[in-house]
Amino acid sequence: MTEDIGERVVELAKRRGFFFQSNGAYGGVSGFYTYGPQGATLKSNVENAWRDRFAVQEGHQEIDAPTVMPEPVFEASGHLDGFDDMLVECPECGESHRADHLVEDATDIEDAEAVPISEVEEMIAEHDLVCPNCGTELAGEPVQDFNLMFETNIGPGSSQPGYLRPETAQGIFVEFPRLKEYARNQLPFGVTQIGKAYRNEISPRNSIIRVREFTQAELEHFIDPEEDEPPLERVEDVEVTLYPASEQNKENGDYVETTVGDAVEDGILTNEWVAYYLGVAKPWYERVGVDMDRFRFRQHLPGERAHYAADCWDAESEIDGDWFELAGLAYRSDYDLSKHGEYSDEEFTLFKQYDEPKTVERATVDPDMSYLGPEFGGQAGEIADALETKAERDRTVFDGDTVSVEVDGDEYVVPVERTGFAVEEVTESGEHITPHVVEPSFGVGRVVYTVIAHAYREDEVDGEERTYLELDAEVAPTTVGVFPLMDKDGMAERAREIAAELRENGLDVTYDDSGAIGRRYRRQDEVGTPFCVTVDYETLEEGTVTVRERDTTEQTRVDVDELAESLAGLRNGGRTFDELLAPADAE
Ligand code: ATP
Repeated sequence: MTEDIGERVVELAKRRGFFFQSNGAYGGVSGFYTYGPQGATLKSNVENAWRDRFAVQEGHQEIDAPTVMPEPVFEASGHLDGFDDMLVECPECGESHRADHLVEDATDIEDAEAVPISEVEEMIAEHDLVCPNCGTELAGEPVQDFNLMFETNIGPGSSQPGYLRPETAQGIFVEFPRLKEYARNQLPFGVTQIGKAYRNEISPRNSIIRVREFTQAELEHFIDPEEDEPPLERVEDVEVTLYPASEQNKENGDYVETTVGDAVEDGILTNEWVAYYLGVAKPWYERVGVDMDRFRFRQHLPGERAHYAADCWDAESEIDGDWFELAGLAYRSDYDLSKHGEYSDEEFTLFKQYDEPKTVERATVDPDMSYLGPEFGGQAGEIADALETKAERDRTVFDGDTVSVEVDGDEYVVPVERTGFAVEEVTESGEHITPHVVEPSFGVGRVVYTVIAHAYREDEVDGEERTYLELDAEVAPTTVGVFPLMDKDGMAERAREIAAELRENGLDVTYDDSGAIGRRYRRQDEVGTPFCVTVDYETLEEGTVTVRERDTTEQTRVDVDELAESLAGLRNGGRTFDELLAPADAE
């Protein structure tokens, strides 16, 4: 059997219905996966746990936006120009590869994404890198920027190009003018979204870790950078393993084991909002079952940061010695809202009321149109607008005799006396500000994969090898397996009744009466079902069932009348299996 946990997870995932490559009947397409019955439930349990922590407990609002968006959105967001990966094609077999990944695989560099293209080309030659598919040398092959967005046409014809969103975030940003109203124009407020995102990855790999269609869970927290502070005291004692950029640049760079509070004090985490969400994210990952010994936060290197990010830390986990990103926690500043304000016709600002009205000086113009009209003809109106903008931005240009403005690339000179320039004192009750944004951006599939890989166990029970998933009861696809010991004397009917009662009590239940009881246990162990209930002769005679716990395989008897309550307690953590064992032991 392979030593590679990743390979075992992929095999188990396919065999037991967690996930598998889609469209198998047509040969399959790289980068698209279907979550089977177990996987879909596990994924939705992870999403619900995320929703609970990042939306409900934080008091944020969730929305659900379309996945296809028109081109101007991505012109504004910068994705059309800058959402690229490095592509190198094999001259022999034509296979496409991520050039930065080839360099990472062959060198100590952890993030070649941060390295300029020309240097990546040099490294390919220097390290004699070859095509992983056919072994042909790649030295001398051009490395190009490849845009990751899937393009489509909205409606017939090609007049309205659209794109599948590469991140759920833009669906939130473009609706800011409306969303701020639902938040009663008060900062800070947060909006979350769990939904599909699409990236035409150059070389999808590692099963569901790098795919072309995936689910993101994102929070956009809009704040006033001058006034709003995160409730850092709630997370200051959370212990974190940090891998700052400065350590990554050292030859023997090391982790910093610290707490969120100390990391802020020591200047390692320079942005308090990012620090706050690191402190929220770490216990959340622990809650859903990521192994904290294989988890870290890594700061982005300056060249690696996305076009919008001012500072960014990735949550990363390790499987088979490889680290990969689970989430990005970024400070996006006012980048997105400013851009949408600039490119669209709407205001992406929010009116901030002062505590007390302020008297300020304001520069205004009142251009003499009887002069501008004859002098500049059709351009007169735009010149007047340009003068107004100039006065708002830099009144000193009106100090001389003339002022020049640019309209459609041409320069026009206007005598200041014709501009009606004046500085007046006005009382203002507030100002329009562009909020800043803090963004925890989680990939759901990568959590599902990690949770399975970190829960994967093999041991021996009664002389037989067994595989089981030590999944937390909150995320396990099934909470209880219910089995009749045998299909006779009414045991199957009673077991079905019990299964139905447990379902009525909100538990995820699987009923199974096929094969030997040992095999049924193994099946549930493999999909991580934490508890199994067996109905036997004692159930019919005395009204008790056996409850078996997955990890220890210990069993105890429980009254059928108390079963639903006991199992619900075990599922939500209010009760432990040891507490159930105690009365039985006392007998
Ligand atoms: P990577 O460097 O691994 O390509 P990224 O930095 O581009 O990821 P972000 O843009 O920060 O990723 O997206 C946020 C999260 O979305 C990631 O942390 C990851 O969990 C998930 N994600 C991004 N791309 C993919 C993908 N191709 N397949 C699955 N999940 C993805």
